[in-house]
Amino acid sequence: MSFKTNFQNVKGTKDILPEESIRWRKAEDIIRKKMMQYNFREIRFPTFESTELFRKSTGESTDIVKKEMFTFEDMGGRSLTLKPEGTPSVVRMFLQHGLFNKGVLQKFYYIERMFRQEKPQKGRYREFRQFGAEVIGSASAEIDAELVKSALDVFEDLNIEGIKLNINSIGCPVCRKDFIRKLKSFLKEKLPDLCEDCNRRYSENPMRILDCKKDKEKIKNAPFPLDFLCDDCKEHFEKFKSYLDYLGIKFNIDSGLVRGLDYYTKTVFEFVHPGLGSQNEVGGGGRYDELIGFMGGGDTPASGYAVGIDRLMLLLPEEEEKYDLDFYLVAFDSESGLLGWKILNELRDKGYSCDKDTMNRSIKAQFREADRQNAKWVIIIGEDERDKGVIQLKNMDKGEQKEVPMDIEKIIGEL
Ligand SMILES: [Zn+2]
Ligand SMILES: [Zn+2]
Repeated sequence: MSFKTNFQNVKGTKDILPEESIRWRKAEDIIRKKMMQYNFREIRFPTFESTELFRKSTGESTDIVKKEMFTFEDMGGRSLTLKPEGTPSVVRMFLQHGLFNKGVLQKFYYIERMFRQEKPQKGRYREFRQFGAEVIGSASAEIDAELVKSALDVFEDLNIEGIKLNINSIGCPVCRKDFIRKLKSFLKEKLPDLCEDCNRRYSENPMRILDCKKDKEKIKNAPFPLDFLCDDCKEHFEKFKSYLDYLGIKFNIDSGLVRGLDYYTKTVFEFVHPGLGSQNEVGGGGRYDELIGFMGGGDTPASGYAVGIDRLMLLLPEEEEKYDLDFYLVAFDSESGLLGWKILNELRDKGYSCDKDTMNRSIKAQFREADRQNAKWVIIIGEDERDKGVIQLKNMDKGEQKEVPMDIEKIIGEL
């Protein structure tokens, strides 16, 4: 027999095989548990949304909307897009389902797949998985600090060390006007030297030039949003820092950090890990006090973040994962196999994992399979056992075997 195919998974996608799935499942369990400890409520949203949602919320001038979205037309000619990030869908759900009526503060979390046409690289896929948390309804810097803490707690519970926190404030529409004017006059004469993207950003969203990896050196003397904060933004940032201190969280102020999305205001933050190389970001987020109003809702402050689970998985300590099984049936003949099958199903009803041969394999091969499956116990049934109404129960760890009446309670009593 040979197993060959000309098909391969599409570039930028990832197959997760059974053993690796154990690690994923464990990580996702840790994320869910932590999110619930913070009283975030789980939401799940569709794989695709109207393209317009991302144009309007993620922002026309962002890299995501400009060049990374998987956009297609359905048969009715509507433009749809595979979700490239979570926040727009969360805000849409919040508004569409009238969740603002259901309480002053809404705390959500999600674990979802996202899609972006980026250049695939280590830990960065075109279909990738994120968990995120969003809090809608509070303007308090306490929420920003609490969000940061919830992500750091997840990293800690996953035993990932070395993730660092960078923070910044990019101000609000009030103080940003002045800053953008100063920034543009600083950048004006440098434009011919800056990359193509930065030249485009200059008219669309000049603050994003501060984020450019290529031009970092050339703009190192640029004015930064921090120097232009209004009193309200300044106070908010001071509080944010003091709450982080209070929670014992170490941080680095990165005045060039602006994040890639249009909707952020005041607090922005990112989690980075040096082990991931030049694309060292694990996740990040910030406050988006303007977005919900912009999307047609009332004036509603909000804050949130997202973390790439694929990237976290690269940072997890190596551990060999194995599946195991409670019972494997070794049957000497087909009649014993049928009888044993019934016992296995009764054991499954009691919560045990069980399996048996279905390929008419030899006794030796059945025992080998029990080993390969890491079975804790083997149930052996042959003609003698059937006649006597018993089974042989073998403890695979100890190698001990004993005769037990063919009765589910008696079998369980022997474990
Ligand atoms: Zn401000
Ligand atoms: Zn640039």
